[in-house]
Amino acid sequence: MPASSIRWAGRCQVLRMLLKKPLVNRKEIISEIGVSQSTLSYITRELLSRQLIHVREISQKRGRPYQILSLNPKAWSVIGIKMGREEVRGTLFDATIKPVKTWKIKIYSDLRSNEGYMNALQKVLKELYCENLLGIGICSSGLVQNGKVVVSHLMGIRQLNLKEILRNTLSIGNILVMNDVDALAYAVLHSLNMEDVLVISYGTGIGASFCTRDRFHHFEIGHAVVADSGKCYCGQTGCLEYHASEYAVLKKYLKKEISFADFVEKEEEKYRAHIEELRSDARTNFSAVYQYYKKAFHELSKLLGSIIMLLNPKHVIFLGEGMVSNQMVEALRKDIQLSYNTEFLGNVEFQLGHADWESGVALAVTHKFLSKAAKW
Ligand SMILES: [Zn+2]
Repeated sequence: MPASSIRWAGRCQVLRMLLKKPLVNRKEIISEIGVSQSTLSYITRELLSRQLIHVREISQKRGRPYQILSLNPKAWSVIGIKMGREEVRGTLFDATIKPVKTWKIKIYSDLRSNEGYMNALQKVLKELYCENLLGIGICSSGLVQNGKVVVSHLMGIRQLNLKEILRNTLSIGNILVMNDVDALAYAVLHSLNMEDVLVISYGTGIGASFCTRDRFHHFEIGHAVVADSGKCYCGQTGCLEYHASEYAVLKKYLKKEISFADFVEKEEEKYRAHIEELRSDARTNFSAVYQYYKKAFHELSKLLGSIIMLLNPKHVIFLGEGMVSNQMVEALRKDIQLSYNTEFLGNVEFQLGHADWESGVALAVTHKFLSKAAKW
């Protein structure tokens, strides 16, 4: 490898490390990336001259002062956007993934189409667009492949090639499109330093992503068929979301039948307040509302146990708007362990996670294009 490529690789490694850990001393960098003192000095000078990092001298009572490196928040900006059923929400972040500005467009039923979402997206981007943008990350509900939202029944989208449309309309080429649960998984993995993690997002929808160190695999777990009855909004019968999502819980809570199609269409106007009430009760005292969740959680547990046997993850992280307390995770863990033999499940650990979509996708887009910021 020519010397310039080695230096470029070194600069990328240092920037990646600073993205993960805000303040790092030289010793840590040398032991982590295995460069010599002199190479690191060279890299540091280069990054400083381009104003990508800050260097602070810390004096000690004894011995020579040492240097602490950190990312310059103004090194670049990234935009993270979440496209969902209710809104298109974007946040502009500085280089350290600190939010600078947020903008959102509410999505009502007449906007749930390819065109409606593209318009909302363009408006959000217009508000957040700035100089020195490293990239734009967009995460969306539904099935996302190769920069395209293949289908999202909840959003009324089919074959929407976001990446291509945005590349043609904006002057920026660094665009990443990913599934929304993958974005949450990305944020969790980055902060917890784990591998082989199954991430489950729970709310009015249910999503899953299985992540190893370098691969994210989203799957539409919400539309796995788990029963012979229950008409799902996706057209199938017996989907997991019908039987195990907050929709199923809400029916128990309100003690009445609600059509799934009606729930999805009018959730905001008719059911949002009840869902918030349910979540608030579950957050403060889950055992008081467990009776409403019991059957839904059992349905979820049955499928999760099978997936755990199949994928053998080390951790299962639950998150999402409907997963609001540790007791909920505990209830699911107990249910899974009641149905499955311990040996089949292995040493899997369950925990509650916290992440937001925009910072997850902003992190992902930063990692993807960071090498471009370090190239000269
Ligand atoms: Zn379905």
